[in-house]
Formats: sequence, structure tokens, C-alpha cells
Amino acid sequence: MGHKSWLGLLLLFFTTLATGGIALADGETPPARDPKQPVDEAYTAKIRKYTTAPYFSSPLVDYLPASKTVPTPEVVLGDVAGAPGILPYAEDVYKYMRLLEKATPRVKVVSIGTTEEGREMIAVAVSSEANLKNLEQNRQRLAKLADPRTIHLDDAEADKLVAESVPVYYITGTIHSPETGAPTALMELAYRLAVDESPYVREIRDGVITLITPVVEVDGRDRMVDLYKWHLAHPKDFYPPLIYWGKYVAHDNNRDAMGMTLKLTQNVLNTYLGWNAQVLHDLHESVPYLYDNTVGDGPYNAWVDPLLVDEWQMIGARNVADLTRFGMPGVFTHGDFDTWSPGYLMFLAAMHNGISRLYETFGNGGADTRERTLQPDEYARAWYRPNPPFPKALWSQRNNNNYEETGLLTSLHYFNENKRLFLKNFYLKGKRSIQKPSAEGPAAYVLPADDPRASVQADLLRIMLKQHVEISRATSAFQVTLPVKKEKKSAKSGDAEEKPKPASPTTRDFPAGSYVIRMDQPYSRVADALLDYQYWSPEDPQTTPYDDTAWTFGELFGVQVTRVTDSKVLSVPMERVTDLRPFGGVKGEGAVFAIDNHAEPALASLRYRLKDASIDAAEEPFQSGDHKFSRGTFLIRGVSRSDLDAATKTLGLQAVALASAPPIKSHAVRAPRIAYIHTWISTQSEGWWRLALDNLQIPYDYMSTQALAKIPDLNTKYDVILFPPVTGNAAPNAIVHGTPTTWGNPLPWMNTPETPNLVGKNDSTSDMRPGLGWDGLAKLQSFVRNGGVLLTALDTSQFAIATGMANGVTSTTSEKMKIVGSIVGTRLVDAASPIAYGYDEKVSAYCDDGPIFSVTSIIGGRRRHLGPEIKTRPTGRGTKDEPDFVIGRPASETPDEPEKELWEAPQPTDEQSFNNPRVIPLANRARVILRYADAKDLLISGLVENGNEIAQHPAVLDVPSGSGHVVLFSINPVYRGETENTYSLVLNTLLNFDSLNAGRKDADQK
Ligand SMILES: [Zn+2]
Repeated sequence: MGHKSWLGLLLLFFTTLATGGIALADGETPPARDPKQPVDEAYTAKIRKYTTAPYFSSPLVDYLPASKTVPTPEVVLGDVAGAPGILPYAEDVYKYMRLLEKATPRVKVVSIGTTEEGREMIAVAVSSEANLKNLEQNRQRLAKLADPRTIHLDDAEADKLVAESVPVYYITGTIHSPETGAPTALMELAYRLAVDESPYVREIRDGVITLITPVVEVDGRDRMVDLYKWHLAHPKDFYPPLIYWGKYVAHDNNRDAMGMTLKLTQNVLNTYLGWNAQVLHDLHESVPYLYDNTVGDGPYNAWVDPLLVDEWQMIGARNVADLTRFGMPGVFTHGDFDTWSPGYLMFLAAMHNGISRLYETFGNGGADTRERTLQPDEYARAWYRPNPPFPKALWSQRNNNNYEETGLLTSLHYFNENKRLFLKNFYLKGKRSIQKPSAEGPAAYVLPADDPRASVQADLLRIMLKQHVEISRATSAFQVTLPVKKEKKSAKSGDAEEKPKPASPTTRDFPAGSYVIRMDQPYSRVADALLDYQYWSPEDPQTTPYDDTAWTFGELFGVQVTRVTDSKVLSVPMERVTDLRPFGGVKGEGAVFAIDNHAEPALASLRYRLKDASIDAAEEPFQSGDHKFSRGTFLIRGVSRSDLDAATKTLGLQAVALASAPPIKSHAVRAPRIAYIHTWISTQSEGWWRLALDNLQIPYDYMSTQALAKIPDLNTKYDVILFPPVTGNAAPNAIVHGTPTTWGNPLPWMNTPETPNLVGKNDSTSDMRPGLGWDGLAKLQSFVRNGGVLLTALDTSQFAIATGMANGVTSTTSEKMKIVGSIVGTRLVDAASPIAYGYDEKVSAYCDDGPIFSVTSIIGGRRRHLGPEIKTRPTGRGTKDEPDFVIGRPASETPDEPEKELWEAPQPTDEQSFNNPRVIPLANRARVILRYADAKDLLISGLVENGNEIAQHPAVLDVPSGSGHVVLFSINPVYRGETENTYSLVLNTLLNFDSLNAGRKDADQK
């Protein structure tokens, strides 16, 4: 074919496109409205008015079909979906959905649970009347496809079910509260799906059950609407940023799909699996104009079925093509989002044999129409974005709604066209999950019955149950063969070349009662992903991981998890466990009760629960009968056996009655009065700490830095001030000064008639701007000086150092190091410190480029070197180890250089100590509790690059300050409900607040 004729054909093709609508595969229905169905002219006129340019819309949403019986969103909103100035509360969205349900048999609304603050969450099903009538039969068919064991993995039977079943496509909106557009888009989408008689929409209605949760973060939505209303009432003022979304966490509510700590995650997963849905499509707004980011970029999560990866590509590519055909600019599916972490809400589907999807559309953070100017990297052409967004555009919420609805409608249509394939894949992914032991393995994960941290093991298993993972308990003891570990070839070292011995397989015995998580179950994938190890290569082409690179639950919880490839494990006699029975209680006879310390967080709960009991901590390990007790063991008196039995049973702790108290040193373990402080800069990171304390039922007074500054004498009210990390490396200056108050208006965070939902169950202020202030800082300093304990982590630790509360500690940030949400090894340095009670020598911890602490023995001290550092003796007489000599004078002894480890403070030399008031007396020096492991042992899971920068440096420090203490963390010990292994470093500090010097070797020295 000649050049010209080819061009001619191409032209003809485009002409056809322009005049004859959309060219599609044979038999596909083009998107076009039904000419017989009247249009709601007034509504349609407003859609056009609020759309800022015709290309920001599509033939699917530039009109609204009229109905005599079904109300449009206007009845609730007072205007059309996406209208400027209008953001509905969740309640209004629900009201509309329930009006739809009343008006048409094509809509059904169900309640799916409540939030932490008690607000309702709903799901709205839209489909044909027949489909909704037959929901239960359809659900039973889908349930069989979801669990292929029920049909004995019979493909022919599966094909029959596939042919008869209507798939479920689940859409979730506005999990991120400042991303405000989804609720109105989803109201209108529900209307269209129920009412539109165009063949295109009718096919979706007849072929698919569309399930919609219009508001995922309901508590945050209502706060956001409040703020927007405040903004409308004060159009010239700055309005307060949304500092609280849900009760506990903000943006991280979309990082909870592993730990399942939040109600919204649990409710969405239960709905998704309860309906046996095939897709979970989560709506976000941060990228112009529509980024379907499930295709994104590598590395992809290593535990998902490759079938899912194909589905992402298929759906993503087609979705972009459909919107591009409509002439909508800025639609793309590749980009810098890697699909590695399974923490995102949408990933609940990926980990449960479904299809995860996520849209980033473009929102204005409210319903104002605004001129939006993009960054060069946002409007740049890229290979995957041949039609990028405009550098500048007038943008409206209606535009955003147009993109969201058009994307969803074309997705639903494509999904319906190919539903047999997707349903078959749904079955196949389940089948392949069940076949995991004989395919890629492993056969099972085993958690031994004799794990000393039984209560933590139970917490981990409870998460598995929330993930709908089946757990079994072995009814007899068993043995498995562990795979041969390949020895690394040792580097050639000198002349003695060692040949590695061929390792032989080892076995491991597990006692009866051990937990077995079988991999021959439909949801084996999620258990495998959460319990396995992650490796992110420093050479990965992806240089900016989007989120955490590791999550290995056995390490983060500090419980034993064995990956078993030996398929014999599957024939061990075992029984299903559907909930974890209470265990623990009191054993033996005697007047004193002992609870061994294995750094179980439940110990702290017990201390608060048994208010009147006297509890001591053993400062040394001891033995009683044949029972060995570790340092930190609780010795309990003054409580009845039955009360203790009840308390320990609910908490999963084992108490042993002793005839008498052991003859060792001990100190009282007291329940401190805690002031828990937050800033008005961010509550993201501290929210996870609050959630952990609430779950452990540890009481505290929650207050801002501003409120703290107003308390006249902190020491009379509190024993410990807990100052969890702020987020985003808040500078000390920001913590003290907050947001500038020399210009602008106050930013109130208060309940008012305009903002009835703002405060919820958290905190309030008349102006968010002021920080701790100099006065507050002075009070904090005097609190510590007078004997209080201040606990800090990450940026709040840097704040404590910068403000002179942690003498002898310096903090630097890394240069080339990359530890991105990884699990690293740490080592106990001072096991006698109460902060370390219950821990073994090696402690796995979560680290995200933590600050690099060093300790010194001189304030402002720095080693000075003149000339090159001499590490060995200089050239001279004798052998290497003999002393040199100088001609013509008596021999002199070379003084021994004190050898110091990297985590230790070097002793000041005689010269440095002479007349130097800045030398810190021994008893005032920082006490290193935990340090980072050596560089070679640093990586446990995830990414560690240039880890030598932080290797061996202190990870947890106890710094005496005046009569009090400041405790500093470089690791984040409390994070996303996933790090129970390190909770007790915080809890031990609380419980031993007035005995932190216990076991201190140099405490008496001056
Ligand atoms: Zn988002």
C-alpha cells in the first residue's frame, strides 16, 4: 500500500470517527443516548454551564436522562452534581441514595457498619430489577467461584457458574477527605445506572451489579464539609486545614489494608467479600486529570497472581483509550506509582483474588471553580501520556465529576463486555491460591504453640481472621523438614580457601496446639504476602518507592513464624480456629504472683486494670522451681487470685503463684499520669500511637502544645509527657512557633453552628496557628528538670535535642542512605534498663530513614584531628606489636587509646577534661538502650541502601536531664498497627517512669 493511499484511509477512519461516533470492536454498543428517552433539560443545561470546556466532558455525562418517578441528585443538593459551592454531608448522600431505593427497584441500600465515631457506612447496589431480586442466588453462585473447593476445583462446573453469574463491581469514594468530588459523582452515577435507557447503560445495568460506597471516611467527610461551609461563610479568610480526618488517622487511612486496624477497612473488606465482588475501584483526587494508577509503575507486588497484572493492563489500557476517543485530555495509566505495598484500600481486592483499581482525578479540595496552574512535570508529554493536561485551566468540581463518571461508566461497560473472562479469572485466581502448596509454595506458615509472646501471637492471628484467612490448630505435635539453606560462596580470602560444606536439611518440631495457616485456601495469597519477607533491590529502576518497602508481620510483631515448604504439614491433624479463645490465667499456689516479661503490651494494660494491686518489676532474672523468669518480671501482690485470673485471661497473660517473693532487687511498677501532646501541624503519625494506647486501654490526657503551655505546673499533674512524632520532619522551629500569626486570620478548630462536626472526639482550639511557644518550651524543660519523663520519637526527638533537653546527643540526617519503610535489625545495648525489659538481644524494628543519633561526653563535643589519623604504629624499630624507641632518651609508655564503639560516647581525654565544665558527668550521660545492627545485619526486610550511615548508631536513648529523663527514638516504635514488637519500648518507659535509672552501671559515679 502506497504512502498516500494509507494516509487517505487514515483520514477516512478519522472522518468516520468524527461523524459516526465511536469505532468499536464488532458487536460493542457505542455510547450514545437513547433518542426516545427525554432529557432533563434544566439539569443538562447546568451540567454544561458548570463544565469549563467541552473537552472536559463526554457524550456519556453531558446530559441527564429524565425520569418521571426517580429523583435526580438535585432534590438533595439543590443543584446538579458537581455544582460550585455544594458539598453534601454523608447524611445527605445517604438520604439521596435511600430516595433512589424508594423510587426504583433497581437500587438497594445496605448498611455496612459504623465508623470509630459511630457514623454509618453504606453500600448502594444498582442493577436491573431482576438482578436485585435474585441477589441471593447470584451471591451463592459467586461464593462457589470465590471458593473453588466447594466445586472440587471443577473447571466445567466453574464455566457453568460463570455463564449464569452476574459479577459485582465495587466502587468506593472519598476515603481521603480533602478529595471531595466522589460523593456527588457517585450520586449521579447511581441515578444514571438506574434510569438511563441508552443501550450502553442498559447493558451495564443488566450485566453487572454496581456496588457503591459513596463515602468511605465518613467522619472525615463531615469535617471537610464543615470546613468548606466555613470557607463559604468567610470567603476572604484562610480556612483551617483538615487536621483530623477520621478519629485517629488522616491520609494513612489508605495504608491500613494490612493491619486492618480501622473500621473503614474492616467494613469495606467485609462488604467486598460478603458480596463476592470482582473489582474494588477506589476514587482519589490528586493528579490532573485522570490517572488510572493501577498499571502505574514497577515493582509490582510479588505475591499477586500474574493474571491480575494482565487484568490491570487490559482494563487500564482500554480505559485510557475510551476517554482519549472522547477527546478528554490528560488521561493516562502509567506513572510513578509502584504497586508494591499491599497497604492500600484497593489492594484488599488484589490480595483476595479480585481486581484492584485506583483513580486519581483532579479535585479542587472543595467545590470552588478555580484557575489551576500545573507543575511542568504534570503537564509534560511523556511516552505514556501523549495527551497531557493543560499547563493552565479553569477547573470545576463538575469537570472532576465528568471525568470520574466517564471513567467509571466506560470501565463498567468494558467489564460487562468481558465479564465471562473476568469471572473465570476470579475463579482461576481462587483455584491457583488453593493450589499454592503444590505450585509455587509454601505449604503453610506455622506459629508455634510455645511462643513466649502468646498475647502478641494472638493479636497477629486476629489480623489474619480479619483478613478472612483460615487458621487451624494442630491437635498433635508434628515435625517438618526445612529447606536446605544455600551457603553463600565466601570471597577468596588469602591462601586458606575454605570450601563450604554442603548443608543438610534440618527438621523442626512443633508442639500440639501450634497454629497452621494452610496455603491451600482461597485467601492464602494475603497470608503469604503479610508473613513473607520482602527484598527491594538498591538497583531497582524505581528509585522512589511510593510507600513502605517491607511489612513482614512475624518480624514487626516479634513472634515466631516459620515458612514451611514441606507439604507433609498439610496432613497434620488439625482443627479450624474461628476465634481466639481467651487463654492465660493463674497457675500454682502462693501469695505472690509472677508474670514473666516478654515485652507483651498486655502487661501495660494489666497495670492500669489492676489499679489497687502492688506490682514490682524484678531487676534481675531469677528462677523459681523449674521456671526461669526474665528481668522485668511482674511481681504482683494485693490482688485476689480470682481478680488476677480474670484479668490475665482476658489479656492472654500467664501468671504463676510463688510461695514467696524472689530475693532480688525490684522496684515498683506504677501507672503514670500521662499527658499526650500533639501539634496543630499534623496529627497523622501520632494518630497511630493514640489508637494503640486506646486499644490497650491506657488512659491519657490528650492536648495540644498550646494547651500544654497553659498548664501552670506540669509536674503536679503528670508523670510522663508523651510527644509522638509529628510527621514530615517538623522542624523544632515549627513545633515552637507553629504557623505565623503576624498576618492572616485565626484558624479556629471548634464546633460552631457552621461547623458542628469539626471537633468530634478529638481536640479543639480557637486558633490552630500558635505552637508550643517559648513559655510552653520553658514549662516542658522545667517538667523534665523537676523529674518528669518526656518521651519523643523522630522529629520530636530532634526537637528535644535542638532545645537542649538531651545533653550529649547529636542528630544528623542521612546523606545517601535509603531506608524506606523497612524492617531493620537492632541490638540491645543495655539489657538492665527498664526500657529494655522483656526483649531479647536482637530486636526487629520499623525504620524510615530515621535520624542518626550520636552520643558524646562533652556538650558540643567534636573530635579534632590534626593531620592524618594514625591507626597503627608508625614506621620504626622492632616488630609490629613492639614499642618503638627514641635515641638518646628514656623509653616511654604509649597510653592506651580507649576503644569505643560507634554507639558509645568516647571518654574525654585528660586534655579535654582540664577545666572543662562542658564535660558531662557519667551519671548525666545518655544511656543507649538499643542500637542499630552492624551494616551487614541491618537489612531484615525491604530496602536498605548505604545503611552504613546509621549502622551501630543509637536507636533508642534514655537521656538523664535534670532530675528527669528524655527518651529518644530513631525508629518509629508505634506505626500503622503493624509494629507490636516495639510497642513495649514505649510502654516500659511509661511503667518504669520513676525508676528509669534502675540497672544503670554508672548511676552512682560522678
Ligand atoms: Zn487520595
